Amino acid sequence: MAIVTTTEMFKKAYEGGYAIGAFNVNNMEIIQGITEAAKEENAPLILQVSKGARKYAKHNYLIKLVEAAILETDLPIALHLDHGADFEICKSCIDGGFSSVMIDGSHLPFEENIALTKKVVEYAHAHGCVVEGELGQLAGVEDDVNVENHSYTDPAQVEEFVEKTNVDSLAIAIGTSHGAYKFKPGQKPMLRFDILDEVSKRLPGFPIVLHGASSVIPEFVEKVNKYGGAMPDAIGIPEDMLRQAAKSSVCKINIDSDLRLAMTAAVREHLANNPSDFDPRQYLTPARDAIRDMVKRKIVNVLGCNGKA
Ligand SMILES: [Zn+2]
Repeated sequence: MAIVTTTEMFKKAYEGGYAIGAFNVNNMEIIQGITEAAKEENAPLILQVSKGARKYAKHNYLIKLVEAAILETDLPIALHLDHGADFEICKSCIDGGFSSVMIDGSHLPFEENIALTKKVVEYAHAHGCVVEGELGQLAGVEDDVNVENHSYTDPAQVEEFVEKTNVDSLAIAIGTSHGAYKFKPGQKPMLRFDILDEVSKRLPGFPIVLHGASSVIPEFVEKVNKYGGAMPDAIGIPEDMLRQAAKSSVCKINIDSDLRLAMTAAVREHLANNPSDFDPRQYLTPARDAIRDMVKRKIVNVLGCNGKA
């Protein structure tokens, strides 16, 4: 099997009331942990790469690692560019073997976002690739994306945006955010399901995407801190809220921080308990297992895509 687009995945997910996990990848152990989980749960999968990941691991390494994962698992796997900032990076990924790109024009005025997204869609569709656009802005920090204030998606804009751009999926802002610090201590996590419902009503059958959807599970933050970390209070989106979203028009849920936390906690625990170890395989094995276990947890608790490959 080759790298697939998300078209078929999203159609089945929309009809089946579940979502596909889009997990950020940076190296071999992360790709292996994620794909091992998807194989064990027989789940379709999106592996996504940010600009920062592409800079860190290099385009060709990532492509070949994902191709290797497909050879090993025979699963339907899409390779997606997360937060493409301009036409050039999207074109480079499309030309270089990605099956899906995001063009993030969410910071631009509405008409400029439409023009940029349309340009990427025209190039992508001519080359067998699909495109995710974004309306509304998530707060938080993720690699090169740094936004101070959250601005919710305006449902009144979604039909015109999708119609004029011909985009394949749409990321919206309903209260998720990038990074581990989504809510302040004492603040109650909440998502604007009213906005999601209104968007879904205006775009029947159309796949919606949620970014920044980690739950920042306390036991993992505690573990990072127990073994010498110093993370202040981190609060994420409860898994049951995301599960509710996955049952609706939300077909793609992006999860990164929870994997980072699980991996870092495992490395810290191993090195704290085995201070004389200096063989990277000794600490990267529990790190890879931690990624696998976290992704399995997400597939079952949040996404509901187990058995859907
Ligand atoms: Zn994002």
